[in-house]
Amino acid sequence: MNRPPVIIANWKMHKTRHQAQECIHHLKIQLSIDFSGVYIAAPYTAIEACASMKLPNLVIGAQNVSEHAFGAYTGEVCAEMLKDLQVGFCLIGHSERRTYFHETSEQIRQKILRCLEANIQPILCIGETLQQRHNNQTNDVLFSQISSALSKLSAQDVSQVSLAYEPVWAIGSGVAASPDAVQNIHAECRAYIQKIWGKTCSDHIRILYGGSVNLQTLAEIISQKDVDGVLVGGASLDADMFANIIKISRELKS
Ligand code: PEP
Repeated sequence: MNRPPVIIANWKMHKTRHQAQECIHHLKIQLSIDFSGVYIAAPYTAIEACASMKLPNLVIGAQNVSEHAFGAYTGEVCAEMLKDLQVGFCLIGHSERRTYFHETSEQIRQKILRCLEANIQPILCIGETLQQRHNNQTNDVLFSQISSALSKLSAQDVSQVSLAYEPVWAIGSGVAASPDAVQNIHAECRAYIQKIWGKTCSDHIRILYGGSVNLQTLAEIISQKDVDGVLVGGASLDADMFANIIKISRELKS
């Protein structure tokens, strides 16, 4: 099954509008304007500035969305507002949101629904803690995160979602999961999707890896059969480094 790679930058709470546009401008030069498969999860405040650059194929996204469609929820941003800014995708259930903002499985499920209703591609982040890994609970934790977030969705809806496997202990730590472990875990998740939503869906769904991806860890991870792209935090903030990550990923996945 051919799944062209997707490379996502998660800028987290970094970059003003000017810094965001400057970074995209550098990427444009480095990539000779070929943004195919490149996604940027910008902070809310920089989304419009990024989208206004109107670069073909560059997909601008958000890092979070409200679980509510609209209403009296001070400080929240709903999916319809994101769609109005031409947002194409949204990270859902990132471990920093689960941990620091206590996002629950039910909120994550609702956020996925709001994205699908607004025609925004959800990127569902899943991952185990170090303790869960040591207790051999990795697969159980991941399957439970997948089933609670996607429960009651049709195979067609699930095919619109991408998964990002991000071990909590690998995010921002400088220690990525081993390429073999990533391949095994992605294959297990794909098999789990197949069991519930069928083979067409599991063949179609992209599973990305995230957690300390950089120029040292990238090549072996992206070369794995069931790795369909990477989600990059720290190493995406520097345009030159992120451009190299994109180029290497394309080369190794072609
Ligand atoms: C992330 O937070 O999604 C992430 C992958 O971060 P880092 O690449 O910095 O580990």
